[in-house]
Amino acid sequence: MKYLSTRGQAPVLDFEQAMLTGLARDGGLYVPESWPTLRPDEIADLAGLRYEEAAFRVMKPFIGNNFGDDEFRGIIDRAYGSFDHEARCPIVQIGENDFLLELHHGPTLAFKDVAMQLIGQMFEVALKRRGERVTIVGATSGDTGSAAIEAFRGLDAVDVFILFPDGRVSDVQRRQMTTPTESNVHALAVAGDFDDCQARLKDMFNDFPFRDSVHLAGVNSINWARVLAQVVYYFTSAVSLGAPYRKVSFTVPTGNFGDIFAAYVARRMGLPIDRLVIATNQNNILHRTLKTGVYRKLGVKPSISPSMDIQVSSNFERALFEVYDREGAAVAQLMQELGSGAFTLSQGALERLRLEFDSGDCSEDETKAAIATLYRMSGEVVCPHTAVGVKVAADKRSGGRVPMITLATAHAAKFPDAVQAACGIRPELPPHMADLFQRPERLTRVANDLAAIENIIRKGIKH
Ligand SMILES: *Cc1c(COP(=O)(O)O)cnc(C)c1O
Repeated sequence: MKYLSTRGQAPVLDFEQAMLTGLARDGGLYVPESWPTLRPDEIADLAGLRYEEAAFRVMKPFIGNNFGDDEFRGIIDRAYGSFDHEARCPIVQIGENDFLLELHHGPTLAFKDVAMQLIGQMFEVALKRRGERVTIVGATSGDTGSAAIEAFRGLDAVDVFILFPDGRVSDVQRRQMTTPTESNVHALAVAGDFDDCQARLKDMFNDFPFRDSVHLAGVNSINWARVLAQVVYYFTSAVSLGAPYRKVSFTVPTGNFGDIFAAYVARRMGLPIDRLVIATNQNNILHRTLKTGVYRKLGVKPSISPSMDIQVSSNFERALFEVYDREGAAVAQLMQELGSGAFTLSQGALERLRLEFDSGDCSEDETKAAIATLYRMSGEVVCPHTAVGVKVAADKRSGGRVPMITLATAHAAKFPDAVQAACGIRPELPPHMADLFQRPERLTRVANDLAAIENIIRKGIKH
């Protein structure tokens, strides 16, 4: 399988190169040159398999010969051995035809672990074989950073630097990033919001002398390998509710469009998905875009679902590439227009987006109400991101017999204050994290300034 850039001007790469590169050199995102498909009998055959084996079968067509079959199985087994649930990504019933897909059983209690634990293992194997080191730099709205630090801490061939918006992540999220003691991990608190962090990250990738001198690698949700890892749980959850013989719908709490794009990939691969619903919080650029056809940045309004406080939704570019018939030049043009704040979709592209995706948004009050209502109706205590999904899913339910699966993207204990305020229950951290608030913190504060950030990285790397 070969990978192309969404902007059409970067070298074509294989899976391993695309994974190690992250952002393409033309500023685009890597996508597979074509969508492999699973036949209905191959999908049906996933039923009852271990999650790891299902993951192997779903991801294998994208990997090519980069990993041998046994090697790849070993990578997957090591990745998910750290999860505290045997099913890895179990589903829980919360209503007559409503389900939660629990993606928070990994070490940092958010769905980012599903992809990050896997790519940590893939990087380790690939870099050892190549005899190379890389510097991983990531921007986080809270959960990616801790997941990346957890996946890469202590590995020989990588230094990790995570940019997070100072004061805008929860205490649990910050402490998960600032308390690991391994010397190859660094938490940088940037004076800005998440979009600033993401913009500085992009600047670093576009600073080719810097990029090459430190062997920069990206593990943000733009990294194709992360999207791929997330395709798996759409298959496993749908199959456990009767796919491919029965359609299912998904509602996905969305920020950077990575997780929902993985659902789109599952559909392209042949999974019969009925509705695919984008759920946003009050930072609703994606919902507005589907309604109006205009993608316009507004300021980020901090919310109680901070991992979705995003205005520039990086992975949306992959969806644009699809609905513009894979014309890199058209995507590059839109991204250039976005530089001045907005772009307008062509009528054809908008219609095709609306065929693939439905959308809804959720205010702060509605988020709190959704946490309280779900607790009262089912006894489930969910995090605010999940609650955004639950609320939008309720709006979009047609009342038919198609199951609606909402993605539970984080454990409620990552956001204890918001959850307690909403439903009166204070969710407890699991035992392996119980002493998080006693561990010493280590972080570096830095201005929202490219040169200052690059300087810290140059001084901090070990090679
Ligand atoms: C990252 C994150 C999201 C948004 O996922 P995207 O792939 O960026 O759309 C939602 N909920 C939680 C808890 C997250 O950490």
